[in-house]
Amino acid sequence: MTLQTVAVIGSGLMGRGIAYCAAAGGFRTALHDVSAEALERARSRIRTDLDEGVARGKLEPPEATAALERLSLEPELESAVRGADFVIEAVPEDIGLKLATFARLDALCAEEVVLASNTSALSVTEIAAGTRRPQRVLGMHFFNPVPKMKLVEIVRALDTSDAAIAATAEVARRMGKETVVVKESPGFITSRINAMIGNEAFLILQEGVATAADIDKAVKLGLNHPMGPFEMADLVGLDTRLAVLEFLHKSLGEKYRPAPLLVEHVKAGRLGRKVGRGVYDYGEKS
Ligand code: NAD
Repeated sequence: MTLQTVAVIGSGLMGRGIAYCAAAGGFRTALHDVSAEALERARSRIRTDLDEGVARGKLEPPEATAALERLSLEPELESAVRGADFVIEAVPEDIGLKLATFARLDALCAEEVVLASNTSALSVTEIAAGTRRPQRVLGMHFFNPVPKMKLVEIVRALDTSDAAIAATAEVARRMGKETVVVKESPGFITSRINAMIGNEAFLILQEGVATAADIDKAVKLGLNHPMGPFEMADLVGLDTRLAVLEFLHKSLGEKYRPAPLLVEHVKAGRLGRKVGRGVYDYGEKS
């Protein structure tokens, strides 16, 4: 059966990007949020992203118009998932909220529908266990900004079926994404490696081995990363980065202990671009 309709639950930073890719990928796309304001913001952001897609030559103007026509904004969850073949959840990272959302989705959606969570770190097995279809619940980990980032990590929970993995890989492919399949594990592949690189950069800076600018320059020009570790940490938010490291430290052990200099930056309120100052000074919030 060809999947036709995707419902995206939560229209924040990630949900609106996921909805953009689904609509641009040819799916009828229903985007739901409990906040009417968030839905309106998402609509205008998706319009801008489609215009940018046209400007960058990724989409023809009629394709952008068709994508917008395929998108519906749904203030009611029931209407959003009515007729959906595939559901992607992107509500805030809170296990209670995820469990409550999946319980409702499980009750509302037909038995064969796959329910995917965009959680960054929570246990997909725990989320799946709260439903009557654990074999059709998995993680679908997108990256920010979703329209531009190529990868989706598909997270296999304990009971996820091969059929659900295959259906998810197909949905991601039609959304223009490449996929990797990972077993449920803290930080999957990407967050684990990225947290380590960022932490090592703080340790090198703390030891006085080189300046922040030179560490970033070395990683970009010597290792061919598109961004330096401090540019990346300032973008992600140092508090977010610290929270990921603390979680990895707790679940995977000593080598993930956060660098003291990172902890100090967070204590000082130097959280990155969002407050105008992190490792670098930006002068104003961005
Ligand atoms: P966000 O706060 O920008 O958006 C969340 C949206 O969910 C908000 O618009 C909110 O109104 C809505 N919401 C809250 N409760 C809801 C409910 N019960 N039903 C429907 N909508 C509800 O958050 P985000 O950054 O988009 O993150 C969403 C998920 O994606 C989280 O699990 C996060 O860990 C994950 N994630 C985030 C990133 C990132 O870079 N921000 C990257 C990968 C994964």
